[in-house]
Amino acid sequence: MMFTSDQSLENAVLNAPIGICILDAPALIAEIVNDKFLEVAGRPYESIHGHFYWDAFPEARAYYETALAGVITSKQPFNANEVELTLIRHGRAENIFVTFVYSPILNAEGEVCKIAIWVLENTAQVTARQKVEQANLELLASETRLRTEQKKLKSFFMEAPAGICILNGPELVFELINPLYQQLFPGRDLLSKPLLKAVPEVEGSAIWDILQGVLKSGQTYTGNELLIPLALTDDGAVMDRYFDFIYQARRNEKDEVDGVLVFVMEVTKKVMADKNLKSTADTLKLAMDTANMGTWHAYLQDNTMTLSERSRLIHGIPDGTHPTLIEASEMIPEDDRKRVLDEIFNAVKAHTQFDIQYRIYPMDSGKPKWLRSTGMGYYDSHGEAVSILGTIFDITEQKEDELRKNDFIGMVSHELKTPLTTLTAIVQMAGIKLKSSPDKFLSGAMDSAIVQVKKMSKMISGFLNISRLESGKILIEKEEFEIDGLIEEIIHETALTTKDHVIHFDTCGTVLINADREKIGSVISNLLSNGIKYSPKSKLIDISCRVENTMVIVSVKDYGMGVKRTDFKKLFDRYYRVESTTTQHISGFGIGLYLSAEIIRRHDGEIWIESEYGQGSTFYFSLPLNPA
Ligand code: ADP
Repeated sequence: MMFTSDQSLENAVLNAPIGICILDAPALIAEIVNDKFLEVAGRPYESIHGHFYWDAFPEARAYYETALAGVITSKQPFNANEVELTLIRHGRAENIFVTFVYSPILNAEGEVCKIAIWVLENTAQVTARQKVEQANLELLASETRLRTEQKKLKSFFMEAPAGICILNGPELVFELINPLYQQLFPGRDLLSKPLLKAVPEVEGSAIWDILQGVLKSGQTYTGNELLIPLALTDDGAVMDRYFDFIYQARRNEKDEVDGVLVFVMEVTKKVMADKNLKSTADTLKLAMDTANMGTWHAYLQDNTMTLSERSRLIHGIPDGTHPTLIEASEMIPEDDRKRVLDEIFNAVKAHTQFDIQYRIYPMDSGKPKWLRSTGMGYYDSHGEAVSILGTIFDITEQKEDELRKNDFIGMVSHELKTPLTTLTAIVQMAGIKLKSSPDKFLSGAMDSAIVQVKKMSKMISGFLNISRLESGKILIEKEEFEIDGLIEEIIHETALTTKDHVIHFDTCGTVLINADREKIGSVISNLLSNGIKYSPKSKLIDISCRVENTMVIVSVKDYGMGVKRTDFKKLFDRYYRVESTTTQHISGFGIGLYLSAEIIRRHDGEIWIESEYGQGSTFYFSLPLNPA
């Protein structure tokens, strides 16, 4: 930089529109300072002029001392563009932005003799620009936020568990539809079409009127299980379809209704299921009426009971009377009531079904009836029974038939018993007489005849017992005897009827019991002959007796076909026989175990089975040693 004269230099500097300070080099003493510079520096002339530059600006020294010194050595200017500085201006630290140059002034020898500092403050521009930038950033952020919100809204809309659409304007043009809405009309092109064009079958339907109503009134409309005949596809058949839906008015910024927001869920399947359920219930009711079946439902928490019309009729319960389960049980004769209630409550406790038969004296003092009730418990989430549901059948006629049949069997058996006893005696006598006969056929034939006659009389006495049992006429005639002796006797008798099986007895020694000897004998005989009958392929039967506490336990074990667990209880039911290809050729009536169980029960004992299907069975019965 060259100046024509000192005066013109001074004038140029002092009036310059930018801040200028001329330093002497290398001492860095401020020789000339103009007003603009003072304005930027924010301090008085005296604190700069004539001072070492860094004494005047100590706060900037650390940042720019090197740069200033570098100008002297390099003879090159130093430029700083819009740098931020903290200056103490008018006694206060201020952050300002400045653009400045340290520019070398060379003397004739080419040495740096002065340094001109040119400075321009840009704080106002920079902060203005920064504000704009900040505003831009904020704008960007809010745009991003808006976009995220929009995305959220869109995904809510697209993934909502209901069909959603927006119908725009009075023509109800499909403006937006979500996938579930589209699924209601697979393959139909809805978007941007007016409702009546896209789904013409809507015209004249209730829906059209409802939508018009919403447009007009702005009131939300909620529809439940509404039948709307619609086609799935454009050319598909119109079907009865059911929908739950909400029509909500959409409003513009002037608060005028300008469309309808539709939320819809198809409930055709549910409605159909409800209809099916109703028809199932109707069918069930019809079946129950046809079968003359009544029902009862006892609620355990509040001890109430509801009875179907048929049930009330069967029990002769007058209108307006609502007995509890216990009150209703008073219709059962007192000596049987406990059994019936026990069976019901035990089944409920064990989560099984009950199936009981009993007599009642109806409430209206009508004729006594025989009833059969089956049912089960209902439980809460903790497995606690909350109610009992039961069916009721009037089986009086069937029961009377049975009693008549029993009487008949009893009578016939009784009539057969006398000639059969005579026949047994004759055959036995003939057997003794023919033992030494030279005719081998005759002596053998008598032995077989004795076996057959014995089988026959056993069968007859079985029938006789059953009919006595049914009519409550079976008599237990107790006497004291040795059970081991009785077992040996029956083994001997049974052995005569089988050639193939060996019966092994594991005795308990002499054990005295007080029981009906003949009937206990028939129980042992029945168990032994069953063991033989149901183990045609194995040879061994094990019978044992043992004393346990106050009971004697007799067991009969075979290694035959065995019994499935599901049949264990049923074996002791009257006339129950296991149906299978292996048992169908084995003769029997299914009364042996029934009778045995009754006989043991009447001796206060128990009878039970353990069995492995296909491996064999063990039947047990227990009798008290010292009954009262
Ligand atoms: P029956 O033998 O005359 O049919 P029971 O009352 O004595 O009548 O027996 C009832 C049913 O129990 C039989 O039909 C048979 O299916 C089954 N059962 C009895 N004993 C045995 C056994 N030892 N092994 C396998 N099944 C048996």
